[in-house]
Amino acid sequence: MYPCKGKGLFRIALILATVLVFCLAGCASHTRDDSNLHIHVLSAGQADAVLIRHKTGDFLIDCGDSDGTDRLLSQLQQFHVRQLEALILTHPHEDHIGGAPVLLETLPVACIYDNGQKSDSPIYAHYRKIAVQKGIDCKTLQRGQVLSWTDGLTLEIVSPPARGERGYGALQSSQGRENNFSLVCRLEYGTFSMLFMGDAEKESERVLLQYMTSGALRTTILKNGHHGSRTATTEELVKEAAPSAAVISCGAGNSFGFPHREVVSLLAAYRIPIYRTDRDGTISIDSDGTSYTIKTAHGDRTL
Ligand SMILES: [Zn+2]
Repeated sequence: MYPCKGKGLFRIALILATVLVFCLAGCASHTRDDSNLHIHVLSAGQADAVLIRHKTGDFLIDCGDSDGTDRLLSQLQQFHVRQLEALILTHPHEDHIGGAPVLLETLPVACIYDNGQKSDSPIYAHYRKIAVQKGIDCKTLQRGQVLSWTDGLTLEIVSPPARGERGYGALQSSQGRENNFSLVCRLEYGTFSMLFMGDAEKESERVLLQYMTSGALRTTILKNGHHGSRTATTEELVKEAAPSAAVISCGAGNSFGFPHREVVSLLAAYRIPIYRTDRDGTISIDSDGTSYTIKTAHGDRTL
């Protein structure tokens, strides 16, 4: 499957208008001859937003909550993001889709991908309405699909399974059903990879471990599920994924106590360095497809 393209003269005019706004705000354009992959796990408070940049385009996985839209837009502006090839929404909870209405009104977005789960929340209805008004393609992703771009960049969807497929019933009957239906995606670029767990919890991890082939979840970097909650990140997943580093998106002093001590201890026991947006700010990972570097906005690493 290939990313969808924008369409229509009106859309093009709108894109140009918005690009102009962003250019005027500070134009030092992203160098398109830079073939490195850049991943920014954005400082999004108690929410989730990851910017993925590559010469083929810019992508977002989730877009934070509605209270964080100013911060999200300001970070996208700092990175000189002018349009998005794709907005991937892991599941329709407010801390993942809350920024979508303002984002869609501000930046051209070629395509929205979701997990096919509907929500009766106003924010869900709002962003869907804007997407329809703007003629943005909306597609559902399921296990087994792969988004491919030139230069060998791929995003494989490893969860959730389609209705009726193996593991679907287990997710459907699980306690944290909405979280467990999160899109779980494995980004691959050369030998570098990163596994984005969304808010998937233990039941989803069990299904992953049961139905994915051995080695398919192995990853260079793990973005932990559900903001470092003890309801996610099982030892079995950590062993199978065998990451060299872990990234947790959570808000400073959040009322849930994320990341939970059990998750931090587990990762420490496996000597996996932990990067946390609550302490480190935005976490930036660069890879040339072989090696990688991690830098944090606050400069030092937490373990
Ligand atoms: Zn969440």
